[in-house]
Amino acid sequence: MENEGRRILIVGGVAGGASAAARARRLCEHCTIVVFDRGPFVSFANCGLPYYVGNVIENERDLLVATPELFRQRFDIDVRVEHEVLAIDREAKRIHVRNLRDGKDFDEAYDALILSPGAKALRPPLEGIDLPGIFVLRTIPDSRKIRAWIDETRAKRAVIIGGGFIGLEMAENLVHRGLQVHIVEMAPQLLPPVDPEMAVYVQEELEGKGVALHLGESVRAFTGEAGASLAVHTKTGTVLPADLVILAMGVRPETRLAKEAGLELGPRGGIRVDAQMRSSDPHIWAVGDAVEVSFVGSDDAALVPLAGPANRQGRIAADAIFGRSSNFRGVQGTAVCGVFDLTVAASGMNEKTLRRAGMTNFETIYLHPGHHAGYYPGAKPIHMKLLFSVPEGRILGVQAVGAAGVERRVDVLSMAMQKEATVFDLEEAELCYAPQFGAAKDPVNLAGMIAANVLRGDMPLAQWEDLPTHQGLLLDVREEKEFAAGHLEGAIHLPLSELRQRLDELDSKREIWVYCGVGQRGYYATRLLNQRGFRARNLSGGITTARTYGGNRS
Ligand code: FAD
Repeated sequence: MENEGRRILIVGGVAGGASAAARARRLCEHCTIVVFDRGPFVSFANCGLPYYVGNVIENERDLLVATPELFRQRFDIDVRVEHEVLAIDREAKRIHVRNLRDGKDFDEAYDALILSPGAKALRPPLEGIDLPGIFVLRTIPDSRKIRAWIDETRAKRAVIIGGGFIGLEMAENLVHRGLQVHIVEMAPQLLPPVDPEMAVYVQEELEGKGVALHLGESVRAFTGEAGASLAVHTKTGTVLPADLVILAMGVRPETRLAKEAGLELGPRGGIRVDAQMRSSDPHIWAVGDAVEVSFVGSDDAALVPLAGPANRQGRIAADAIFGRSSNFRGVQGTAVCGVFDLTVAASGMNEKTLRRAGMTNFETIYLHPGHHAGYYPGAKPIHMKLLFSVPEGRILGVQAVGAAGVERRVDVLSMAMQKEATVFDLEEAELCYAPQFGAAKDPVNLAGMIAANVLRGDMPLAQWEDLPTHQGLLLDVREEKEFAAGHLEGAIHLPLSELRQRLDELDSKREIWVYCGVGQRGYYATRLLNQRGFRARNLSGGITTARTYGGNRS
């Protein structure tokens, strides 16, 4: 029988490993599949762990997507938990394994080996890092320990080190458990995958919910006597008392096995693989957080530790082992995070990364459409930022924040990016619409239309970051009441409804930067002015975007 007796061994039985195992069985009924995991569980929902700590998920068993018994019964897959793979003998095609329950070692032969060992949480060698009460969150046992610590010590104050997705999810969940939460983040903003002016919405949400932010601060040391409360010391001298500290400082690919076996690593320290997830050894595949892959649309190597890519890569590795021609397209870093009443999502490159890479042939637009039709009750703004190449209009990245409808728009744009669509395609995208779900011009269409207007030369843009050095006229075209409630410093006021009649009040020799609330009336005014002999630009995103930057209001 085809593949009879062929042995597929898998290291790591969670996102990538479990997907690979199940796919391998679907492709081959006659081979032997064995999964080793050093932890007590396989196929658990790491992504649910913050919500288990927060007691939103109350029952630990709900985190188990599949058990070893289910793997055995449903798929005839031999899952060995609490078995650590210690070494790979590539010459003999064998792995060396330790049963952590009885300490006994043994070897297993493979025809194909898949590595999905994940990543480990960063724990820098800071003074006091091993004190009781300081935790990382990667596994169910980690979350159990944090829950027990909160209950046993009746913890009231938590300090989270790191303001990425996991840090923010933990902040929300610890507030939910009644703790006073501080976040210490080394960067001047939260959420490194988004740009600073987009992170501001999230920062405001957290502060509004009572979370204290310490941005631009890094930790120097932790102190505390046994049993007494801890203190977090930052490099600027801030001392934060804490009953609980969560280290959410990022992860590093788990590459020990691969490195010791002489597999090639890439420039970012992950296992190097080809599009079929094959490592530098033709009999070994690697997937998930441990590998580096290319970023869609570029040749740059990237480490993107997310569950979606790990699952897809596991499937592709199994396909490749059984001779199918699936290829991994690369990552885009498509991610979403709930932060109290807000959702923040992003896909593709952000502006910081583009600038760091020296790219200049791109443009940025901001928009703030409602998540559904304005006439239907309850529309909430989605703050969006779209980056696209000039002059082609290829979509390079999107970021969005809002109370509802955010992930749907980012998902659509993410797919568009994967298919190398342009902003002109977004103008034409046909999307769902009924008043409670969207608008006849969906935010995705609007983003395309705005970007296409820029590329066609219909709407010259001005950007918030250039406001401080702007020498021309700043024109606010909103209504009297809006202007009176707050406007950009130095702005003159001519509402759009009166603009045609009062053009003689404007100096036609100076460039005019027009703005309104979100950019729409500014666009109308810019069109009007430019067709009547003025040189006008529309401030992208209007005062709403400028405000996030602390845009000078008076
Ligand atoms: P993992 O799922 O980490 O599995 C690796 C397994 O390998 C581990 O069980 C480990 O014990 C085992 N292992 C390692 N070395 C050995 C060895 N030598 N021998 C035997 N076993 C070994 N991603 C999202 O996309 N969305 C989210 O909302 C999200 N939330 C997250 C929240 C938390 C708290 C965490 C920790 C992660 C979250 N992630 C999220 C990331 C996502 O979980 C990972 O990207 C994904 O699990 C990676 O899959 P993997 O198979 O590479 O590694």
